[in-house]
Amino acid sequence: MIVVKNVRILGGEPADIRIDQGVIAEIGQGLSGGEEIDGGGAVALPGLVDLHTHLREPGREDAETVQTGTRSAARGGYTAVHAMANTSPVADTAGVVEQVWRLGREFGHCDVHPVGAVTVGLEGRQLAELGAMADSAARVRVFSDDGRCVDDAVLMRRALEYVKAFDGVVAQHAQEPRLTQGAQMNEGVVSGRLGLTGWPAVAEEAIIARDCLLAAHVGSRLHVCHVSTAGSVEIIRWAKSKGWDVTAEVTPHHLLLTDDLVEDSPVGAYNPIYKVNPPLRTRADVEALRAALADGTIDIVATDHAPHPVEDKETEWSAAAMGMVGLETALSVVQEAMVETGLLDWAGVAQRMSAAPARIGRLSGQGQPLEQGAPANITLYDPSARTEVDPSAFASKSRNTPYEGMTLPGRVVATFLRGRPTVLEGKLV
Ligand SMILES: [Zn+2]
Repeated sequence: MIVVKNVRILGGEPADIRIDQGVIAEIGQGLSGGEEIDGGGAVALPGLVDLHTHLREPGREDAETVQTGTRSAARGGYTAVHAMANTSPVADTAGVVEQVWRLGREFGHCDVHPVGAVTVGLEGRQLAELGAMADSAARVRVFSDDGRCVDDAVLMRRALEYVKAFDGVVAQHAQEPRLTQGAQMNEGVVSGRLGLTGWPAVAEEAIIARDCLLAAHVGSRLHVCHVSTAGSVEIIRWAKSKGWDVTAEVTPHHLLLTDDLVEDSPVGAYNPIYKVNPPLRTRADVEALRAALADGTIDIVATDHAPHPVEDKETEWSAAAMGMVGLETALSVVQEAMVETGLLDWAGVAQRMSAAPARIGRLSGQGQPLEQGAPANITLYDPSARTEVDPSAFASKSRNTPYEGMTLPGRVVATFLRGRPTVLEGKLV
């Protein structure tokens, strides 16, 4: 039995939480007994859930493993992550998703839910065995070719139809491939000045519009990965106004960073630390994404944690890999972009980083409100802390963060997975 003393649930009045056998047994004041942990007035949130994590195992254990990636997740306050399918081999069979699921059970510092590929080998030619992955021990409900777009409309339609049988969802990486051939950064004023091939907003928006129409046509669930443009927000708002079952995510970096960092930043011009897919966009896009996350048009924050080894990032811009790590900074960036700006309170953060992603992923036992009888998945967060981001202190195997040297608000103090601390006093247990 553990009693966590002096926390503020969703930023409310001070309270104590008694945890017994992995469950919240009691919430009240002056609780005692068992092991006592001082919460120090931290904000208590339901354990965070990430719908979009690249754990890289199997195949790229030089970048991340299930063990290091879930350590990174726990440090960031997460109690569950969805592991993307673009591994090697690709997670496109029951065998591979069960392998990842088992690695999660054995080595995970949080729950690991494998995402299944939509198409065999992410090649966009033939549907993967979606039903077998859904029926496997991993009980896959989220399917995505993330990193690649399912651009064939017939295949996308079939995938949407297929997942209805088991209440699954297709999570689309919306990127029209022909419109983004050779694209290096957001298409706009900055790409023009730098002479880099532009990545037009329409390449994202055209796919999102098509997929919303397809999802409505077949009566299925669509989830849009990493929305990055103001136009995408408008299309999703329109789809939701029709009552269609469309959900969307935004990454922390798209809520904070803009494309002019490619030209001028504290780490110089053309620094590939800012190279990411979809690309960083403009200030107007960032403002639209923040407003959409606040008003519910965008449902959740998802990290798109994309670890890469140094040699794949510290090279010339055109050759560098796309992606950023994000698990250990997500909550701080969301505080900076959404809470400090008055757009969200802690209840709103909990909804968008725990309850809603758990619901979209159809997870049971995650994302529940902190109340008596709920599984004790709890994140304690001190929003008054100020931390300079030091990648060398990351639990992730990779260091490719765009926030190095920046001072961000907040600090994850502790994380509990079904009552068991995975992080205490900011350190892995
Ligand atoms: Zn993606």
